[in-house]
Amino acid sequence: MLWKCSVCGFVYEGSEAPPKCPKCMSPKEKFAALSEEDAQKIYASDRTNDIHMEIIRLAMKIAKLAKEGIEINLDPPCVALFEQARDEAWIIKQRSKAEIAGHLGKGKW
Ligand SMILES: [Zn+2]
Repeated sequence: MLWKCSVCGFVYEGSEAPPKCPKCMSPKEKFAALSEEDAQKIYASDRTNDIHMEIIRLAMKIAKLAKEGIEINLDPPCVALFEQARDEAWIIKQRSKAEIAGHLGKGKW
């Protein structure tokens, strides 16, 4: 069951509301149970946001590897490939970041 703090928006998972909000310290009475539908939306966006964050992590790893490859400078085609991978990793990362920011704005967190 999910409970939402009406003061700060913190979402708590448990069989009942917490004694105090872990974020803003409001008392238990400020929590309301979320409907099944709203809870499903939060669970679905929670997993989706985790996937975006994992993609961001992997894109940063690609950028780091590409940078190392550029520094080794074995031959021009290799360097060009690494530069392309670095630029594409940046795009992948920024796209997922923008999507997460969009979810936040729509309360999908
Ligand atoms: Zn709160």
